[in-house]
Amino acid sequence: MIEFREVSKVFHTSKQNEVKAVNDVSLSVNEGEIFGVIGLSGAGKSTLLRLVNLLESPTYGEVLVNDKSISTLSPKELRQMRQKIGMIFQNFNLFNSRTVFGNVAYPLKIAKVPKQEIKKRVNELLSFVGLADKADQYPEQLSGGQKQRVGIARALATSPDILICDEATSALDPETTGEILNLLKKVNREFNVTILLITHEMNVIRTICNRVAVMENGEVIEEGSVYDIFTNP
Ligand code: ADP
Ligand code: ADP
Repeated sequence: MIEFREVSKVFHTSKQNEVKAVNDVSLSVNEGEIFGVIGLSGAGKSTLLRLVNLLESPTYGEVLVNDKSISTLSPKELRQMRQKIGMIFQNFNLFNSRTVFGNVAYPLKIAKVPKQEIKKRVNELLSFVGLADKADQYPEQLSGGQKQRVGIARALATSPDILICDEATSALDPETTGEILNLLKKVNREFNVTILLITHEMNVIRTICNRVAVMENGEVIEEGSVYDIFTNP
């Protein structure tokens, strides 16, 4: 589903200095899997995600999504691929000037979905995330957990194959984290959405991931099933 083939990303910070944010990473994320990448701040996790969601292109190597190398996509294929990848964030990234309904409707408006269909789809999504009664509220009226539920509904609006989670529970308390992780499990199970998440929290990996990669200084230093990486000495 997602494959990194000997991928490196080099940033030039000045004429002489460069940072290898991602260094020769090879990884495969299979369809239907919940795959976690864990590492300290600066390890290269965000850069890895940005290579999948098409915000960065690799300096060396290849990133494939659904067997297609993302560097060779036409503008039209890029637009289609963007709709197949949903994303949620640590700080939710909601539009504060739009209602809950408006936030979830937004990607559908962009995709020029007819108004009646948008209404139906948004109401379905809000029921799925447990916010059917909050459609007319604004983000500032919601708790952190509710905001992330809106983020999840919005990310699912265009029926993506892949959901990318960037420290999605890092701003939440432990109980709310548990609720959001349960919701992500339900997304994975009911819609067969492949989930790629990055986190610095071991608990998140233990709770929902099937497989994990450990990153340090741009490199993947360990990769395997969560059981193998965290249970065996
Ligand atoms: P993480 O998400 O694990 O905290 P990042 O991918 O954000 O790690 O960063 C990895 C390294 O790459 C860090 O040293 C960071 O400073 C550097 N880096 C990331 N993005 C850029 C950029 N746009 N320009 C220069 N350096 C960057
Ligand atoms: P804007 O796009 O101007 O920010 P909203 O995001 O609040 O406005 O709403 C977008 C569209 O969705 C509007 O056409 C509005 O009529 C419709 N809408 C808003 N809330 C609801 C709701 N609870 N149920 C059905 N349709 C709604």
